Amino acid sequence: MGTLKVNQHLVTPENLVELVKICPFNALEDNGGKLEINAGCKMCKICVKRGPAGVMEFVEDEVKKSIDKDLWKGIAVYVDHVDGVIHPVTLELLGKAKELAEKVDYPVYALFLGHGIAGEAEELLHYGADKVFVYDKEELKDFRIEPYTAAFEDFINKIKPSSILVGATTVGRSLAPRIAARFRTGLTADCTVLDIKENTDLIQIRPAFGGNIMAQIKTPNTRPQMATVRYKVMNAIPRNEEVNGEIIICEMEASKLRSNIEVLSVRLKEKEESISDAETIIAIGRGVKSEKDLVMVRELADLLGAQIAGTRPMVESGWLDAKKQIGLSGRTVKPRLIITLGVSGAVQFAAGMNGSDYIFAVNNDEKASIFNVAHYGIVGDLYEVLPELIERIKLAKEA
Ligand SMILES: Cc1cc2nc3c(=O)[nH]c(=O)nc-3n(C[C@H](O)[C@H](O)[C@H](O)COP(=O)(O)OP(=O)(O)OC[C@H]3O[C@@H](n4cnc5c(N)ncnc54)[C@H](O)[C@@H]3O)c2cc1C
Repeated sequence: MGTLKVNQHLVTPENLVELVKICPFNALEDNGGKLEINAGCKMCKICVKRGPAGVMEFVEDEVKKSIDKDLWKGIAVYVDHVDGVIHPVTLELLGKAKELAEKVDYPVYALFLGHGIAGEAEELLHYGADKVFVYDKEELKDFRIEPYTAAFEDFINKIKPSSILVGATTVGRSLAPRIAARFRTGLTADCTVLDIKENTDLIQIRPAFGGNIMAQIKTPNTRPQMATVRYKVMNAIPRNEEVNGEIIICEMEASKLRSNIEVLSVRLKEKEESISDAETIIAIGRGVKSEKDLVMVRELADLLGAQIAGTRPMVESGWLDAKKQIGLSGRTVKPRLIITLGVSGAVQFAAGMNGSDYIFAVNNDEKASIFNVAHYGIVGDLYEVLPELIERIKLAKEA
């Protein structure tokens, strides 16, 4: 990291005008002949690279003395669960951790915090964990941020994992930043790609600037390296029947598990149908012209046992619930089949569905970007294609 500095003595009326124009974020201002940087600055450094020589300067922060990376080993996965029922994102992360660990010859750890959970720990060994560290304590019965952070901290101090992967669930999104702050280390949220360098630096890739670029983020000077990943972004490995790993029951000072939060009661929310779990999805976009046309879409969805989801404009128009939005600011889905109807395939949408097994797109514009990610496509008016599709599926079902 660093800061941008204006060398005012090199500013002339001519290069001032040039610099103000050069910034794509309008972050450079002419303040009565003085060049100023405003809050819009995204540190893209275009002004340094393309502006008049020397006027804008990037001053690097003093690089922290590097830590001894050899002291930090292993890839750890935080086990997300409710009362021992493990969230599937954990298994997906174990799959990714195994792949990364093999590249640098590291073990895979699972960190399991809770109460009455020890019996469930073995399952994690079937999905790639070499060691499961279990903190089975009454104080960890319900998720409370202070004792969970304390147990997580204890694990890191004792085991020193090089990288930690956390599911971007409600719990994970709350826990991971606390841990990162406590260890003064980096955390990249919602990574879509993870890789590892020979020197064990974790390559964390995620969309940035509204999905217009894929940012590659590293944490070269601190350990542990931390990343959160949403459900359905990575792949779990198939359950391995044989297990060779180890379950380690961990102890820690009880006083560290104290909390100022008292859980009075826990009420389970009614289980909602989530598009992230759907096997088949019909995704609608602005090509669907009127809310009443959803009847036709519903007919197709019912025939295929599909859930209806869509693009952000469909949610903004109030036709779909916010939980049905696919994409960067919505949910990630990975169904076996997704049929998109009148969806342009903007990067922010595609980022949430391009891992689907089969993508079938209907759009009347042959240049629509959805066709770049689709496996099958029909260039045509959805108002002609959809009734025909429904008819053919009905006939096939009757046959
Ligand atoms: C920071 C940020 C985050 C965002 N997050 C998301 C997100 O999570 N999810 C999301 O969806 N968007 C998101 N967006 C918005 C995104 O950029 C697009 O604007 C949006 O996805 C476009 O939705 P659409 O495909 O429904 O509409 P349009 O882009 O308007 O596309 C409509 C398509 O329908 C086709 N069409 C029109 N009529 C017919 C017809 N009769 N038959 C067949 N095809 C037809 C057109 O050719 C066109 O391709 C985000 C934007 C930003 C800046």
